[in-house]
Amino acid sequence: MSDCIFCKIVAGEVPAEEIYRDDDVIAIVDVNPQAPKHLLVLPRKHYATLAEIVESKEHRVAGSLLRAATKLAREVGGQGYRIVVNSGEQGGQTVDHAHVHVLAGRQMHWPPG
Ligand code: AMP
Ligand code: ZN
Repeated sequence: MSDCIFCKIVAGEVPAEEIYRDDDVIAIVDVNPQAPKHLLVLPRKHYATLAEIVESKEHRVAGSLLRAATKLAREVGGQGYRIVVNSGEQGGQTVDHAHVHVLAGRQMHWPPG
């Protein structure tokens, strides 16, 4: 996707603070952090939503996303963490390249708003 900001980050065309990369996903620091630790884990290949990933034939990608998110969350969130996927307009998704938020470093609240 030529006009997708996260595809450009994956390709190295837009700078980002990348903290993890494997065959399927990368993790970057969120530019507008909502917690002291706020990471994004995203597939290297473009999928618009989590549903697209889950429904694709590449079953490994969904597992890779969750595995990386959980590994990083445990590293940065010693006292606990929150893993979030915003999906679609009403779900609060603003970048249409699927991604998993990892938030940690403060007390989380519920409902999330
Ligand atoms: P969402 O609203 O769930 O789609 O999340 C998109 C996230 O991407 C937001 O938390 C933004 O702060 C973050 N974001 C947007 N552009 C960039 C960028 N160039 N580098 C890092 N994070 C970004
Ligand atoms: Zn993309």
